[in-house]
Amino acid sequence: MIRFNKPYITGNEMKNIQSVLNKGRMAGNGEFTQKCQEWLECEIGCGKALLTTSCTAALEMAVILADIGYGDEVIMPSYTFVSTANAVVLRGGVPVFVDIREDTLNIDETKIEAAITPHTKAITVVHYAGVACEMDTIMAIAEKYRLLVIEDAAQGILSKYKGQPLGSIGHFAALSFHETKNLVSGEGGAVLINDTTFQDRAEIIWEKGTNRKAFHKGLVDKYSWVDIGSSYLPGELIAAFLYGQLISCAIIDKARMKVWNQYHESFAAAEKYNKFRRPIIPQEISHNGHIYYLLLPTASKRDQMLHRLQDKGIGAVFHYIPLHSSPAGIRYGRTCGEMDVTDSVASRLLRLPLWGEMKEEDVQTVIRIVQDEVNYIEENVLSE
Ligand SMILES: *Cc1c(COP(=O)(O)O)cnc(C)c1O
Repeated sequence: MIRFNKPYITGNEMKNIQSVLNKGRMAGNGEFTQKCQEWLECEIGCGKALLTTSCTAALEMAVILADIGYGDEVIMPSYTFVSTANAVVLRGGVPVFVDIREDTLNIDETKIEAAITPHTKAITVVHYAGVACEMDTIMAIAEKYRLLVIEDAAQGILSKYKGQPLGSIGHFAALSFHETKNLVSGEGGAVLINDTTFQDRAEIIWEKGTNRKAFHKGLVDKYSWVDIGSSYLPGELIAAFLYGQLISCAIIDKARMKVWNQYHESFAAAEKYNKFRRPIIPQEISHNGHIYYLLLPTASKRDQMLHRLQDKGIGAVFHYIPLHSSPAGIRYGRTCGEMDVTDSVASRLLRLPLWGEMKEEDVQTVIRIVQDEVNYIEENVLSE
């Protein structure tokens, strides 16, 4: 079996964890948390980074900071993971789903304005597969209507839009270090606060709604409950592991890109014969090799391909079930316009195994079997 994903372990993780154990300080916001946050601020060029227990938690913090409350609307794609929408619904807000672009599978920026109402407070963009959304247009719309922009950059660490790292462009951003992402800590994430006016409140929400930070700095003489908040910060063991990953990011990124590029070159011919379409990376965008997908011509061909690859030991998978037609999406959300691209892509997309330490022979095996199977389905199909 060729696994769909396997985290890249650099060797620094255990050393860092041992150092935490030796010092005997394992709660959050310690030395490694600070190191990770400084690294993110420096590498991404974001205003302030706070580690969180997940990207889900980071999105929840961003939505609290954006002051989303009962009935407030947040525009977002439907083709995304549930956390993008859940964060809004937890505050009583309404996710408003719009369709995605055919090329990048990111939110279609030309459909955003039609979804704006007097209740709209924010736009959450998702950089699918680590490929940037059309941020210049989106930031201009946000400015025109005085909306806040949250980047769900769960998949986007180290990718760039016109030279700007993803996560540094919107008012807020959320990163994920879940096991399936490029840089990992098992579960983990970070909220990035680019608009400096929100930084003090962010630290309060992060520390369970207390002014602990100001207290430790000697700015107030009492440590008290001052706002809403929760326990959003991870323990030091997680931060220690993560720091080992962050400082090796160049090696991890390079290894993933190598596999991504091999797939991309090898599948060019099959794309010419319209057997499937490969990912499209617009100019002025550099990506991080997070996902390699194929878009099959029909849903039935995708399903057959998925089963045939899995039968042959290739850990291929698909996603997402669109949010706008999911039970909770129907209950809590609203859809603006047709969702044709979302529905079509969700039924035709197939993800191939992609991780840094994939053996060369395994990459070649995936390429060969994909080509064999796509030809088989072509010749034997098979009623639609
Ligand atoms: C993975 C992912 C999340 C959730 O990340 P967690 O760290 O598991 O909470 C949210 N949004 C997108 C687009 C993701 O890919």
